[in-house]
Amino acid sequence: MSAVIVIIEHDRGELASASLEALSAARPVATQLGVPVVAAVCGGSDATANDTAGAIAATCARYGASEVVSLMHPLLADYGPEAWGEAIAQFVAQRRPAAVLACGTDRGNEVMAHVAAILDAPMVANCLTINPAAEPWAMTRVQWGGSLLEDSTLAAPVKLLTVGHHAVDASSAPVAAATSSVFEPVLDASLARTVVADRVVREAGVTLTTARVVVGGGRGVGSPEGFGILEELAAELNGKVGCSRAVTNNGWRNHTDQVGQTGTRIAPDIYMACGISGAIQHWVGAMASKNILAINTDREANMVTKADYAVIGDLHKVIPAITAEIRRRR
Ligand code: FAD
Repeated sequence: MSAVIVIIEHDRGELASASLEALSAARPVATQLGVPVVAAVCGGSDATANDTAGAIAATCARYGASEVVSLMHPLLADYGPEAWGEAIAQFVAQRRPAAVLACGTDRGNEVMAHVAAILDAPMVANCLTINPAAEPWAMTRVQWGGSLLEDSTLAAPVKLLTVGHHAVDASSAPVAAATSSVFEPVLDASLARTVVADRVVREAGVTLTTARVVVGGGRGVGSPEGFGILEELAAELNGKVGCSRAVTNNGWRNHTDQVGQTGTRIAPDIYMACGISGAIQHWVGAMASKNILAINTDREANMVTKADYAVIGDLHKVIPAITAEIRRRR
């Protein structure tokens, strides 16, 4: 029996919300093909892994998977793209599904790239829409962090696709009698070259992704010490300081502070972009902000022309003035 297989992303049993988006995207595809949705969950083979698989299976069934298959092997206990990719490739070779969907996250795209390479099959990443009725299948996919939509087609015996992160709303569609089973791939230790070896707990409290106010600094800040005035303003507004890649490239701030295509996507109530030109790679990380205030000496800078508000001036004078005014009003 054919199927649409969804690769479930999780981190030691903690389900990635993107997995629910992938299941939601898979349902209409499976319905059009008249086949079931099968969730594939990689995991270890001890008792803890069994409990984890049970909890994940219940959630997958709530989002439309009529079968949940645990791909179990000690090498799959923690995330490793090579071992996960090989395990899924073996499962795909056995089941011969119409399509395999994964999350369009870093991990989902990484695993699917391994699957595609092992099966010598093409893949289409970050799909927004999937039309299995077209011949060949037609997809619209997200490029450049969402600033470009690309129409593509895919002709291959097994369609390997990832679903653009946040491109589809996760919606439940419970399956009353979902079945579960185990698939044991044959894996050897050479597939464990890349595995998650350590986890660092992120600082508690407001983060760049959750902050309602982000004060971003670019090359115009001039030095690591220059960020002191941005920190002061952010603290006054219970916000976070972000930065551009020019700043991280210069070693002025950690990469964890970087906003953009190769950094963090932010969506605060207000983003204050100080001394940032607004290159497309920065913009795609900032464009979901509800309001943007640009502070720049160049009135023609991209960030200034795209911002809701702009102050044309030297950030070293403007930022302390804003902080002082906020304090005065309080
Ligand atoms: P600049 O472009 O040099 O701009 C500095 C700005 O500061 C100018 O507008 C200037 O007018 C203003 N300025 C100078 N002095 C002052 C002052 N005293 N007061 C006020 N304004 C002043 N970039 C990112 O940010 N995030 C990413 O994730 C990212 N990913 C990338 C991925 C790829 C594959 C590539 C190729 C590039 C990526 N970049 C990214 C880099 C991006 O293209 C830009 O080079 C970078 O964003 C520029 O940073 P900036 O705006 O701080 O510096």
